[in-house]
Amino acid sequence: MKIVFATNNQNKVKEVQALLPESITILSLKDIGCEEDIPETSNTIAGNALQKAEYVYKNYHHNCFADDTGLEVNALNGEPGIFSARYAGQEKDSEKNIQKLLVNLKNQTNRSAQFKTVIALIGLTPKPSLFEGICKGKITTEKHGEKGFGYDPIFQPKGYTKTFAQMPLSTKNNIGHRGQAVTELIQFLENLNL
Ligand code: IMP
Repeated sequence: MKIVFATNNQNKVKEVQALLPESITILSLKDIGCEEDIPETSNTIAGNALQKAEYVYKNYHHNCFADDTGLEVNALNGEPGIFSARYAGQEKDSEKNIQKLLVNLKNQTNRSAQFKTVIALIGLTPKPSLFEGICKGKITTEKHGEKGFGYDPIFQPKGYTKTFAQMPLSTKNNIGHRGQAVTELIQFLENLNL
């Protein structure tokens, strides 16, 4: 089965591809000729995932799933949340986002946070389906590790002494937010018996 994953983020493609069975082949946005920026204007993570998947389905007529992820920091009332990508400005600069978050949490003892991913699937069933994954943890006081992307160098999942950026992809996928949501998606696709 071929299905579009509505993202331009190659790190996400790598993570998701590592989890999917061989029977499911991902097409990228580039593969279907979608080069434009897909709108993300909802005020919820689920709404943004749905908006991206709907955009591809309506304009390119491919079965499609899209993910949206937010980092929710408790001491900041759930921020950056839906603003995670542009926390420090429109340019979506991960380094600047990390520095802004570390400054905003300076001297803060409550560093608890969670990543939330929602995947929206459109096309294979009459109605869209949503799959959610949450990973709880804390924001470290400085960056550790070179792997992963985004906020990975400052996110330490609960029960671990290393950040996501210090872990092999297989460990991040096992315990992480996107891995959980993708596992649910795979289960759903397998139950469809396509
Ligand atoms: P989006 O899902 O691409 O909109 O991601 C929102 C923001 O969260 C971006 O700044 C990403 O870099 C960041 N992000 C998304 N997923 C992850 C992750 O698994 N680890 C660290 N940062 C992430």
